[in-house]
Amino acid sequence: MLKVPLFCALIALTGTTLVGCREGFPSQSEFVLGTVCAVNLYEQGRNEVYHEIFDRLREIEGRMSVTLPGTELGNINANAGIEPVAVHPDVFEVIELAVLYAELSGGAFDPTVGPLVSLWGIGGDHPRLPSQEEIEAVLPLVNWRDIELDRERLTVFLKKPGMALDLGAIAKGYAADEAWRILKKNRIQRALIDLGGNILVYGEKRDGSPWRVGIQDPLDSRGAYIGIVEIRDQTVVTSGVYERFFETGGTRYHHILSPDYGYPVRNGLLSVSIVTSRSVDADALSTSAFVLGYERGKALVESLEGVGAVFVFEDKSIRLSGETGFILSDESYRILSD
Ligand code: FAD
Ligand code: MG
Repeated sequence: MLKVPLFCALIALTGTTLVGCREGFPSQSEFVLGTVCAVNLYEQGRNEVYHEIFDRLREIEGRMSVTLPGTELGNINANAGIEPVAVHPDVFEVIELAVLYAELSGGAFDPTVGPLVSLWGIGGDHPRLPSQEEIEAVLPLVNWRDIELDRERLTVFLKKPGMALDLGAIAKGYAADEAWRILKKNRIQRALIDLGGNILVYGEKRDGSPWRVGIQDPLDSRGAYIGIVEIRDQTVVTSGVYERFFETGGTRYHHILSPDYGYPVRNGLLSVSIVTSRSVDADALSTSAFVLGYERGKALVESLEGVGAVFVFEDKSIRLSGETGFILSDESYRILSD
């Protein structure tokens, strides 16, 4: 397990930045869920609690990864079009939530995006620009309505051969909530969880003030932020064009794909950050709102209670929705109201 002297130094490497933390308690971090995950329990930092959290993260990865061999998710995908697969309640719960968000977002969020993710390979070693024919060949496999869930038997069935689930847009949020549950069980007073930019703050700072979490400047290097959100017992999750991408022919292709047309979504947005209390909701909603675009994304966010959103656009404008506690610090950006 890596030990990092200052939690802030580590968070600066990820999509969201913790601002102005100088308490000096070492965080612990591990590479899990395909990213650097860091936890800081501050003065109550007992090894057994750190271990419990990282064990749980590894357990979730071991069930829900599409890259590791022998996971339950891999088993569901291998049995697409063949037969339903019995899964652990964790896996069932995340898939059920993913289906809920697919429905709420009108299919903009779609956990059956797996065949498209494989085709593009963005974030892997061999990303490439697929042909239109290749995209059209897999699009019929991307449809959340072809997931059959049986709550009694805890089985999942993908109706068409070739379908594949990918929980990359939601499972880190679930993992952060599981870390939160472990903090609560162990009566930890305050903690910070950073799962590759999925930030969850637990409790408040020692002086009673809120945590200040930076929103990454999507046009600048990691750790540069455009502003901050002040939060307590909440989570901030960002989906953006800068997280994973590749460039070819002078065009940048990022990893958030349209289930409609099969290409990286282009709608003028650079990122969407969601502020709310449950990280699984924030994770699903940041991806959903990004794919939906501003108007429909805002409508979705505003239809839900206790959710705030920061929309950042290519022209360096920012629009806010709901309660975000956002404070702009980079004056090359500007906040617009409708
Ligand atoms: P988000 O916006 O939250 O999610 C975007 C991701 O969701 C895309 O990368 C794609 O996978 C998927 N997606 C794209 N479009 C849509 C859509 N319209 N609807 C729904 N989903 C969509 N990465 C590795 O490189 N190696 C690993 O071994 C690895 N293992 C992982 C294991 C687990 C259990 C999880 C949850 C993730 C793993 N990852 C791995 C992926 C990685 O850590 C991130 O989850 C991923 O890069 C996207 O996270 P994000 O928060 O940046 O973006
Ligand atoms: Mg997400």
